[in-house]
Amino acid sequence: MRSEYLPFCRHAIGEEEIAEVVDTLRSAWITTGPKTRRFEEEFAGYVGAPGALALSSCTAALHLALAAARIGPGDEVVTTPFTFAATANVIEHVGARVVLADVEPDTLNLDPAAAEAALTPRTRAIIVVHYAGHPAELDAFTALAAARGLLLVEDAAHALPARYHGRLVGSGTNPVAFSFYATKNLTTGEGGMLTAATELLEAARPLALHGMTSDAWRRYERGGSWAYEVRSPGFKYNMGDIQASLGLWQLRKLTAFQERRRRIVALYNEAFAAEDAFELPVARPGIEHAWHLYPLRLRLDALRIDRDAFLRELAERNIGASVHFIPIHVHPYYRDRYGWRPEDFPVAYDAFRRILSLPVDPRLEDADAADVIEAVLDVARTYRR
Ligand SMILES: *Cc1c(COP(=O)(O)O)cnc(C)c1O
Repeated sequence: MRSEYLPFCRHAIGEEEIAEVVDTLRSAWITTGPKTRRFEEEFAGYVGAPGALALSSCTAALHLALAAARIGPGDEVVTTPFTFAATANVIEHVGARVVLADVEPDTLNLDPAAAEAALTPRTRAIIVVHYAGHPAELDAFTALAAARGLLLVEDAAHALPARYHGRLVGSGTNPVAFSFYATKNLTTGEGGMLTAATELLEAARPLALHGMTSDAWRRYERGGSWAYEVRSPGFKYNMGDIQASLGLWQLRKLTAFQERRRRIVALYNEAFAAEDAFELPVARPGIEHAWHLYPLRLRLDALRIDRDAFLRELAERNIGASVHFIPIHVHPYYRDRYGWRPEDFPVAYDAFRRILSLPVDPRLEDADAADVIEAVLDVARTYRR
């Protein structure tokens, strides 16, 4: 058994990131400035986006996508129950109604047919989530959005970098929101990025900084103007150069990080494939998975313990694991506001009851993965029915 506790996720900030932050701190500019602009350009270049707006979080990016498209009271937005609360919270932030549709049993992504069935004349947008890093069925959603005149927003918090039919997530013209939260594939501690067509980004940029005219961040520079106008009551969602310093280097290391993630996933898949108590995560043909998470579903009828007890047994064996996600419709706020019962979205609820996430961060060594595998198999074999 492993002697030291293995945390579920460890960040991979290195000396280059630290040196870049120090360089920023020694410079005259520590908030939104030249490094943030460079990070936006390099990020847009990396995913092949028309443009990018660096923000304080992915939540901010999702909120701004809806706000810039003027989605609000009286409107409905269709999304998945199998996501983090932020995906639904932003719909409430703009005053629209959350409409949920169930997920596909294999990928646990929003099901295009279920989403189509949930559309009404009030629907203005669909938010898909690329769960765990597996792209949602973008061809189907793009066609549906075009046919019904809807905005397609992508919550790509897990999907950097992921490909759908050869195309990187974020390379289209619809709004795509990325997260640089501490646990995500690329981290700036806290942060996010919105990619979209130039027009939407131009509407979103002032909204990210109090609704001020767009180059207001330059107003303290030599030659900058002190004057600005507020054209709407915007938010305070800008990223600063300290965060961008981290992002610039994390972006350069992303390919190496992904190689490590894929290696860990291959080790897990090989070790767990023959075990009938497990249902392994899938990667459909034609996609490239970002492997932000390694979600393993238990076959509860093959075990004498439930998922919660399985996680406790792993913790006793010094392995940190987690659950992604508690579905939106079982959280008290959403349950009470919309009157949802757990069975209303049966695929999402069934997945929640038997899913757990194993460590898959790029700092894991092969020996760490071997410890995880040993513990997982030991629990499954000890409690086999
Ligand atoms: C992490 C996460 C978010 C929120 O990201 P922040 O940058 O913390 O705002 C949104 N959606 C999903 C699916 C996430 O996992």
